Amino acid sequence: MKSMNCTGVQKASIFPGIKISNPAGLKEIGLESPVPPNQRMGKRKAAGAGAAKNNLGPKLSPFYIKESVWNQMLQHCRSELPFEGCGLLSGTEGYASNSWRMKNIEASPISFAMDDEEVKAAFLEMEQRNEKLTAIFHSHPTSRAYPSSQDIKHANYPEAIYIIVSFSGKVPMVKGYQIINGRTLPVRLIRH
Ligand SMILES: [Zn+2]
Repeated sequence: MKSMNCTGVQKASIFPGIKISNPAGLKEIGLESPVPPNQRMGKRKAAGAGAAKNNLGPKLSPFYIKESVWNQMLQHCRSELPFEGCGLLSGTEGYASNSWRMKNIEASPISFAMDDEEVKAAFLEMEQRNEKLTAIFHSHPTSRAYPSSQDIKHANYPEAIYIIVSFSGKVPMVKGYQIINGRTLPVRLIRH
């Protein structure tokens, strides 16, 4: 699988947007990779989500983010300026109750990559808390809160919500998306 960033650099990764230098290390802790997209969607369909032909169902559910987590995400992205900030959110299906602020090891205003050791540590702790990854966030310091073509191209973790925090306007804009097979659909974010 490929990772992605805004400049389109491709690297081996278990997640889009997360650079993993040692994917083999994740196997040891049972975190080698997400289930392939088609299997995930199959599961969702089987679960009776009323999915239509496009696999997404007539309407996407909103994604809820705990107020403090929302604030932590924004603060982190703001503190990383002028570079892109990035991180993970975890919780239960459709809900983020914890944030994992990650270092952007590319230290770039137009791309990001996460440190594999930091990601592994976050995953282990999520497991211990019985949480799962529910969203991947990053910021766009100067462009709008919409996935770049490279963001879309390399988004291969369909069950995570992609959140983009944009600082292009006077007020930060936070938008969520589901990206599946190159299709980008807005997901309503609700502070909870
Ligand atoms: Zn981006």
